[in-house]
Amino acid sequence: MTVINQIYNLELNQDSERLDNFPFHFVFTGGTYDRLFYGDKKLNLAPLNQIVVNWLLNSCGLTRLKKTNEGGVIILSDLICQRKLSIVWPFFAPNANHWQRNENLALTRLCDQWHAKRLMNIGSVLAWYHTEFELDKNRNYQAVPLQLDIETIPDNIVHVPLDTPSQISNELLCRQTIPSPLVEQPKRFEEMTIALIAHDDMKPRMVEFAVDHEYELGQFCAILATGTTGREVAAATNRTIGNKMIRYHSGPKGGDIEIATAILYGHCDVVIFFVDPLSPHPHIDDIRVVVQACMVSDRVVMITNEMHAREFMTRAVRGKQQLKLYAI
Ligand code: PGA
Repeated sequence: MTVINQIYNLELNQDSERLDNFPFHFVFTGGTYDRLFYGDKKLNLAPLNQIVVNWLLNSCGLTRLKKTNEGGVIILSDLICQRKLSIVWPFFAPNANHWQRNENLALTRLCDQWHAKRLMNIGSVLAWYHTEFELDKNRNYQAVPLQLDIETIPDNIVHVPLDTPSQISNELLCRQTIPSPLVEQPKRFEEMTIALIAHDDMKPRMVEFAVDHEYELGQFCAILATGTTGREVAAATNRTIGNKMIRYHSGPKGGDIEIATAILYGHCDVVIFFVDPLSPHPHIDDIRVVVQACMVSDRVVMITNEMHAREFMTRAVRGKQQLKLYAI
């Protein structure tokens, strides 16, 4: 928070034109955003003063993602994989397990994978501001907000009293992924999206599974897949499967995070992930993030081994048993 104040003050002492048209758009995870705008009584943090708030809103651009516990850091990683974010300030609490959470470790790895600048303390941010700012403002990164359902902050946010509980701002500002109460509302497979992921040693099993269940897979409206799994499944199955497929990056390059993000946004109903429990994976944190995304999205069916996947296909899909899912 103080680093934003510091940058504002540095700008104030420089070129006033740049203050009016700051060349960076800020994207915050929800909790950080709430602390900036509303302060935190428990942590004894005051909110940013209104002048800086107005500057962020009117001259920089502001996007609030979900809170970390709702998947905000995962979505941030997804934006990095899509080359929508070029600089990240992950200020983790060093003396707690905070920075070792799966999504934070995945974020750290994916910043390096996609060459995003990772500035982890105030000194690094200020050094960047003094030496690299001019270069970075001309980089041709894509604009935010993006194709995801991220809502920018509505103009009227400045009128919300600063002591408004953050819950209210959540409702105002971000799409809810927390499902409404369980209702007995069957969903047809033709309305569902399924995701396929297989680790390297499990790919032959996944391909065989997909060939054996072409008919059932063809019932779904869309098939999401990590890069290599998708390529191999599409090559071995009929054209219907390939036509329904959306292929993301390969797992180690962020494909798992992209699928986790689709899950968090309610764009995926069934996940079939053939996990190889015997081999080490460089992107183990991303893999855990997929599981984590399923854990926070109660209505997703998650299947992590072949026997279960075959049973599901035979009983639920071929048997056309309708799934009782949470209403979206
Ligand atoms: P892949 O990714 O399908 O691109 O191999 C899967 C994974 O390793 O998580």
